[in-house]
This record gives sequence, structure tokens and C-alpha cells, in this order.
Amino acid sequence: MLAAAALGAALAGCGTGSTDGGTGSGGDGAASRRSPSAPAPSTPAAPPAAPAPAPTIAAGPGGLTPVFERARTKGGDKVVALTFDADMTADQGPRAARGEHFDNPRLIASLRKWKVPSTVFMTGRWAEEYPDQARSIGTDPLFEIANHSYSHHAFSSPCYGLPTVGPKAMKADVDRAFAAFRAAGAVNVVPYFRFPGGCYDDRALRSLAPAKVTAVQWDVVSGDAFATDADAVAEQVLAGVRPGSLVVMHCTRSAAPTTEKALRRVVPELRKRGYRFVKVSDLIARG
Ligand SMILES: [Zn+2]
Repeated sequence: MLAAAALGAALAGCGTGSTDGGTGSGGDGAASRRSPSAPAPSTPAAPPAAPAPAPTIAAGPGGLTPVFERARTKGGDKVVALTFDADMTADQGPRAARGEHFDNPRLIASLRKWKVPSTVFMTGRWAEEYPDQARSIGTDPLFEIANHSYSHHAFSSPCYGLPTVGPKAMKADVDRAFAAFRAAGAVNVVPYFRFPGGCYDDRALRSLAPAKVTAVQWDVVSGDAFATDADAVAEQVLAGVRPGSLVVMHCTRSAAPTTEKALRRVVPELRKRGYRFVKVSDLIARG
């Protein structure tokens, strides 16, 4: 059905080629222009305390939103960041009401059990649907929550058939997601943004400049969206990871059902190879 097709497109967009037209234009050398500015959004004074401001990257030429893809680690330092897109599109409430699961509590529980620091790129709509989980993730120091828009609509077009956000509405869509995280009680919120579908262009980078976020892409595609073979996902990740890599996966069990199972291989194998898991903020801090 149409809605399912749209979700499929959206998820596929999160996890497919980092080389398609809209990606990669802003990453070169950006990591070296890191600045300590742009603190995380302020949060209510309630325990646990908000973390220290997250490291960000200085704006690109003309104030464009900077883009981060992977760290150029010094001396081949074996660190890797696993990232999980918690996808839910603005119009998918009725499907959730009918029982479709856009969350993945088992994945989060396993990451805790394995003590794997991770970054969750959450849509605002997801946080509204699962406020208890958003708060739980967003108050656990093992995790940080980054912004994946409120609506999960496209910020450049075409983008896997997603509806498009106009330039004037882009910052508001991002702000609305941060507000949803705050409303849920999340405090470990970082000023990073992943474009839905990974689709962006200079107009989007310009329109989002006032939002003061660092856009975060990836260099390793897990292929977990709609995958049915966990081993294939694991092998793709293991084949792609190098020092400083950033892996894109999903935290949406209805459309990425094998992610947790794939990680049961990926996590011990990467550790065996000498890798340490870090959050995106740690990767950016390394430049
Ligand atoms: Zn997504």
C-alpha cells in the first residue's frame, strides 16, 4: 500500500548509497574545523543533569551547515560509531495505532547489555509516539539523541518519493523535533541532524544554517532496511568499517527487523578486531 511504500522509500533512503547525488558535498575537511560552539539545547533542571555541550563543526563557506561523514582518526585509532535512525513519518500515527511497531526496545536493551555507546537519530514524531522510550534513551549516558527531523520528509528533491519540506519550513521542522525530545524528558540531546533519506543540497544546508546543527551522514551502509538476512547485514558492516567509520542502521523494528540480530555478530567481531564503539559526539571530537 501507499503508506508502506512511502516508509519503505524513507528507510531505504536512510540506508542506501552515500554516493547518490545529494550526499557528501560538505564533508571534506570539515572535521578539522571543529569548534566548541553550539551547546546542546537547554533542558529543564531535573536529574540527571544535562551533559556538557557536544562538540560541533564550524560552519562551511558562506555559513552553510557543516556536514560530517567519518573521522580521520590519528594513527588509525580503531573507533567506530554505530548510529540508529528511529524513523517514524508524520502521517504514520494511524499505522502505529493499528499495531505497527516503529520502535525496537530489544535493540536498545541489547546495546545496553553489550555496553555499546550509540547515537540515535530520532524523528520528533517517533518521540511523540514513544515518549517513555525517548526519555529512557535520552537520560542514559550510554546514548545520545540526535535530530532526524520531525516529519521525516525530504529536505531536497527527489528523495525516494518522500514528501518535501520547503526551505522556509526546514528549520521549524528541526526545531519541532528538538521540542519533542524535550517534552519527552530527554536530556542527552546533541545538535546533530541527519537528513531524511540522507538527501540534501546546498539550499538545504543554507536553509538550516540558523538551526546551528551539524549534519551527519555516514560512510558505512548497513543495508538493514527491509533486510531479511541478518548475516548479510553483519557482513556488509564488517566489510565496510575502518578506523573512524560511522555506520547507519535503524531502530524501527517493523521495517528493519534484523538489526539486533546482525549486531550479535558485529559487536563481538569488531571488538575482536580491536575496535571501540563511540558516539558520534566522540567521533566529531576526534575530528
Ligand atoms: Zn530515516
